[in-house]
Amino acid sequence: MNRKAKLLDIHIYGDKVLREKAKPVESLTQEIKDFIDDLTYTMYERDGVGLAAPQVGVSLRIFVCDPEWSKTEKKNPLVLINPKFMDMEGDTTYEEGCLSIPGIYEKVKRYSKVKISAYNENWEEKIYEADDLFSIVLQHENDHLDGILFTDKIPQLRKLIIKKQLKLIESSTDENGTNIKND
Ligand code: ZN
Repeated sequence: MNRKAKLLDIHIYGDKVLREKAKPVESLTQEIKDFIDDLTYTMYERDGVGLAAPQVGVSLRIFVCDPEWSKTEKKNPLVLINPKFMDMEGDTTYEEGCLSIPGIYEKVKRYSKVKISAYNENWEEKIYEADDLFSIVLQHENDHLDGILFTDKIPQLRKLIIKKQLKLIESSTDENGTNIKND
């Protein structure tokens, strides 16, 4: 019964799984439930506020997030399966980072408020209305399900500036698209 959650390898910039359009989840199997436990465990172990399935090499429309965790230190993970935005409005800019793009932080323009529907870990349909960091995390993680990375969304000039760093990250991954050599 008490299965121990596993730490999953994070796939790094350059790995093609991060560029694929992830597939919808059709039903909540035990395998997927276990995967969600591992994904959640990995997010906390790696100090993330969100982690999407493609980032651990699984091309399914699932992500977990806990935007308040770093502030409150109280874990309250949200699981979003097959998420769909229902509404988005306003503009905001926030300096983002990504576990798949280590060491790079850039300002990204996003909607300030979003409304999203998704299935949770009990396959119940939930609607979340979000602003502030929660809204940004939802947009960042949902982008991963469509093969979009935050570095795609920064101004052209910034893209040029970080191009070399991105190349370095790309060349430091192993054949599985995971481990950074000089960690
Ligand atoms: Zn990310």
